[in-house]
Amino acid sequence: MKIKEIINPSDIQDAYEQLVSRKNATLMGGGIFLRLQRRTIPFVIDLSNLGLNSIEITSTGFTIGAMVTLRQIETNASIPDGLRACVRQIAGVAVRNMATVGGSVMGRYPFSDVLTALVSLNATLHFHKKGAVPIAQFADNGLDEPDILLNICVPKVKNSLFAVYKPVYTDFSLVNLSISKEEKYTISMGATPKHATSITVESLSDSHAVLDQFDFETDRRASAEYRRALAKVLLEDAFEEAKVWK
Ligand SMILES: Cc1cc2nc3c(=O)[nH]c(=O)nc-3n(C[C@H](O)[C@H](O)[C@H](O)COP(=O)(O)OP(=O)(O)OC[C@H]3O[C@@H](n4cnc5c(N)ncnc54)[C@H](O)[C@@H]3O)c2cc1C
Repeated sequence: MKIKEIINPSDIQDAYEQLVSRKNATLMGGGIFLRLQRRTIPFVIDLSNLGLNSIEITSTGFTIGAMVTLRQIETNASIPDGLRACVRQIAGVAVRNMATVGGSVMGRYPFSDVLTALVSLNATLHFHKKGAVPIAQFADNGLDEPDILLNICVPKVKNSLFAVYKPVYTDFSLVNLSISKEEKYTISMGATPKHATSITVESLSDSHAVLDQFDFETDRRASAEYRRALAKVLLEDAFEEAKVWK
């Protein structure tokens, strides 16, 4: 990646105006996914100076700034288990020190572990212009116009877990799933190879019925049948783990 021009605004409205007024403006979170691209980016807006890098505990849950790194999430004991377990297994510490939760969501990467965990937690995204957007809606449709993700609100849950299969530790997921429990259970499945979708169930009694609610497809990394077989095992293990939840 080569950058022709970069700015580092300290005012969110200024950053937004630059985004919508400059042709080919690109927002940068941690920048590590952007830098994998072999292209020249004409104009980058670095979001690191906007004060979006803290995690706040609220009466109803957590507000996670878009520039919070995966490592900050991993090391914060207040964050729900499912989200911490998810980020803990992503690449190495050096990557997790740089990759931001905002970049992880906004990329809408179909393999994303972070998206799967946040969909099961019924998180809400807060954008500068558009305001609040449920994460499942964003995962399905993206945004219809450029915007800056400010933070992610994660409601309190009683329990949550995350499970994944990767051929090798540093690889991308062949399938991933997350379960959270408040009154009901929300189960999300991602990397199918499409991005995460979720269902809500009253109890975790029938993993076969749950499995049937999700679609699996073939890509160059794995067949639909293989992904479905992996998901079956992950779901059965997850149901077993969740048996002790109050
Ligand atoms: C070696 C490596 C291995 C990885 N392995 C995994 C893995 O196993 N599982 C997994 O889930 N992820 C994995 N990732 C992805 C990683 O977790 C992050 O999702 C990714 O690096 C993007 O985060 P970033 O902060 O670098 O975003 P950037 O590269 O800065 O940005 C990514 C995209 O999001 C946009 N963007 C960034 N912040 C905002 C914002 N606040 N508002 C609006 N748009 C924004 C950018 O314009 C860009 O389009 C891996 C990444 C690398 C480099």
